[in-house]
Amino acid sequence: MWFLDGRLDPIGGAVVAEALRRVEDELFRADWAEAKAQLGDAVSASQLARSAAQRRADALVELATRAQTAPAGARRPEPLFTVLVGYETLAGRICELADGTPVTPGSLVPWLDRALVERVVFAGPDRVVNVGARRRLFGGATRRAVQVQSRECFHPYCDQPADYAQIDHIQPYAAGGATIVDNGRPACAYHNRQRHQLARPP
Ligand SMILES: [Zn+2]
Repeated sequence: MWFLDGRLDPIGGAVVAEALRRVEDELFRADWAEAKAQLGDAVSASQLARSAAQRRADALVELATRAQTAPAGARRPEPLFTVLVGYETLAGRICELADGTPVTPGSLVPWLDRALVERVVFAGPDRVVNVGARRRLFGGATRRAVQVQSRECFHPYCDQPADYAQIDHIQPYAAGGATIVDNGRPACAYHNRQRHQLARPP
């Protein structure tokens, strides 16, 4: 006999458990269909050919067998685990003076009515992709934010996905429109061009 006992880290464990669950589920359906064919619709879990433990053991063997079946160089599947991370956890909360001294958000409240607020978007800790000051083109995180927010070309009858679209200024840049998320919208190449042709004075 073989006895299985081991420890995995949380992610490795989740990957193994999910792979095992999928095969187990497959075997369960097969057992259920077989019992139903023999015993009719009133079948219950206790009437299946295998116990849950036996099915789980068989699933592990099936998993190992399939691992040998994968052709060399086959594409590896997406990781079999899902993780939910709050934005602040991922990006880290920042509240510090320009010289790096941390301050509490509460200590800033008395200053707010006299403060000038500048919006800066970082890609990673060192690279600034957007500052409150105007820039000509939507890029980096701002561009992505507009795409995710709107999904499709702004034209009501056009369903070009935003991922392939250009980002258009709602209030044109030349007319003072800022390059910020709220003034951006996805426009497919055709509708972006058409709009600017219409806007051009005759
Ligand atoms: Zn369009």
